[in-house]
Amino acid sequence: MTTQDPKRAVDASSGLASFGLQPLDAHNRDLLTNAHPGDWVNPEPADRYNLVVLGGGTAGLVTAAGSAGLGAKVALVEKHLMGGDCLNYGCVPSKTLIRSARVVGELKEAARVGFGAPPHVQADFAAVMERLRRIRARISHVDSARRFRSLGVDVFLGEARFAGADRVEVEADHPATVAEVFAALEAQHPALRRRLTDEQGALRRHVNIYLGNDNIRDLSGLETKLPDGSELLVLPSVAGG
Ligand SMILES: Cc1cc2nc3c(=O)[nH]c(=O)nc-3n(C[C@H](O)[C@H](O)[C@H](O)COP(=O)(O)OP(=O)(O)OC[C@H]3O[C@@H](n4cnc5c(N)ncnc54)[C@H](O)[C@@H]3O)c2cc1C
Repeated sequence: MTTQDPKRAVDASSGLASFGLQPLDAHNRDLLTNAHPGDWVNPEPADRYNLVVLGGGTAGLVTAAGSAGLGAKVALVEKHLMGGDCLNYGCVPSKTLIRSARVVGELKEAARVGFGAPPHVQADFAAVMERLRRIRARISHVDSARRFRSLGVDVFLGEARFAGADRVEVEADHPATVAEVFAALEAQHPALRRRLTDEQGALRRHVNIYLGNDNIRDLSGLETKLPDGSELLVLPSVAGG
């Protein structure tokens, strides 16, 4: 098995490696830290594995943990979030929603089954979703990359593809571009839309962005890649001075 660049990792704190998780609150950051840590460094791949598992969803995790527990040399590759559909979008989130819906439904039925109806039975959707994110984050350590490493599995974060009959390549995470950071920022703060870029998607004239000492206009503009750990500062422009 080979990896093209095992040292490459994504900076989750920039919002780039958010994998569509919104909002990037403490719960979702916990989830990311477990399911796709921004500072993850893929291990040096072994020449041969007994088993290479593609995908860290329910099936992959159970197979990898079971096989490693039996002494097999196991690699697991996940391109997105450890835990797959079940943890991140399916079983776990749906059960928290079902629980909330059931409670509201039961409370609304209270009077009919002999209890005084509570005065204000009203769903608080933001609170329901916050609970979903909290529970999902709490459970995510069980499926986490670090836990699987501690079980003896070589965990690779990146996209796997077959490169031969007995060969798998992993394309490690790419560093984010400035444009991708803007897209993530604008998704979280819609008021920023059109302040950084114009209708054509080009950087507005009065916006200056530096990577170290270099203006990104002198690099690759919005396509400039941000090395791990980069911090992007958006400062208000000072008119007339
Ligand atoms: C709303 C909902 C509720 C559900 N509730 C339940 C329930 O209560 N109980 C239950 O048993 N099941 C439930 N399920 C079903 C459950 O989520 C799936 O059965 C389970 O996720 C399947 O696991 P999997 O590992 O086969 O696939 P997935 O969970 O889809 O995992 C596949 C993983 O492979 C990764 N991957 C794909 N291609 C590559 C590649 N080339 N390189 C690296 N990684 C790759 C993906 O990113 C993903 O993480 C529910 C599903 C949904 C949608």
